[in-house]
Amino acid sequence: MITFYPGPSKIYPQVAGFAAEACQSGIVSMNHRSPEFMAITEGAIRALKAKLNVPETYHVALVSSATECWEIVAQSLTKQSSLHPYSGAFGKKWMEYAHKLKPMHRPDEADVLCIVQNETSNGTQVRMPALAEFRHTFPDALIAVDAVSSMAGIVLEWSLADVWFASVQKCFGLPAGLAVLIYSPRALRRAEEIGENDHYNSLLFLHENFEKFQTPYTPNGLGIYLLKAILEQVPPIDVIDAVTKQRAESWYTFFEQELADSPFRLLISDAAQRSDTVIAVEGSEADISAVKKLAKQAGLLLGNGYGDWKNTTFRIANFPAISDEEINELKRFLRVWPTLQLW
Ligand SMILES: *Cc1c(COP(=O)(O)O)cnc(C)c1O
Repeated sequence: MITFYPGPSKIYPQVAGFAAEACQSGIVSMNHRSPEFMAITEGAIRALKAKLNVPETYHVALVSSATECWEIVAQSLTKQSSLHPYSGAFGKKWMEYAHKLKPMHRPDEADVLCIVQNETSNGTQVRMPALAEFRHTFPDALIAVDAVSSMAGIVLEWSLADVWFASVQKCFGLPAGLAVLIYSPRALRRAEEIGENDHYNSLLFLHENFEKFQTPYTPNGLGIYLLKAILEQVPPIDVIDAVTKQRAESWYTFFEQELADSPFRLLISDAAQRSDTVIAVEGSEADISAVKKLAKQAGLLLGNGYGDWKNTTFRIANFPAISDEEINELKRFLRVWPTLQLW
């Protein structure tokens, strides 16, 4: 089965070999405070910074999921409350989690701005100039960015936000259970001002541990090893970015031109808002359900719709681990699927 699901998504083919190696060599049984394992953690962080062009001054911690990062931002970096200008289901969910920990009484008391850069639920994105605009409008607020379905797929301008995070089961092409949390010196100062240290994953406690390439708890050692191994193999982010954007353009042209007479249309009509990494396609419930079923029979897994768009869209991941051949196979299928229905 070729999967186009936008998370968990297709993993890089090399992951299987690296995972076997980690088991056979005993890496997965290593003490996480041993110098050998600390070197793996350091290597993963080093490779992340090098391949994704993260500024040297920014810090990196590894946690379990993006959802955990939502909570870390609320508990360790938010004084009063956070503002969430969202456009889809993930943004809304983040706001709900955050406001449970730091309820909002008045919008003007917000000291953190929370932005989902790539809204996986409906295939929209906040481009870098828009992020710069937020920076300009809210100079005193900390800006935290959920880049779960775009980090490692496109170039991000790190200086435009103080906190960036992503779990690895999307553009990183890795199995779930690990997330990357990147934070600026300014974010660290905010954490110090607040001084919140009540949780195993309080940012100050995480920071203290990761300074020594350690973790407060036994980490996902296999995940960290795979992150290091895969990042050392992938091309630099500007190379990946160019491929992602060219493939995205090709997908959008495909639906707008080649499939203009099909029962499908792009969910997002404004081209400027369209995601580079998740393509959302709309149709009637009957057509969406039929195409997903036939695709599955043809060995192609389309992503279900999400939230409000559950039954009236399908989604196509445009993640780097997917190959050109796989994309072409899906395009071939989408051109002919109505005729397959006769069988
Ligand atoms: C997948 C996703 C999440 C959730 O990630 P977890 O690793 O399950 O916590 C959060 N935000 C966005 C935009 C996502 O696509």
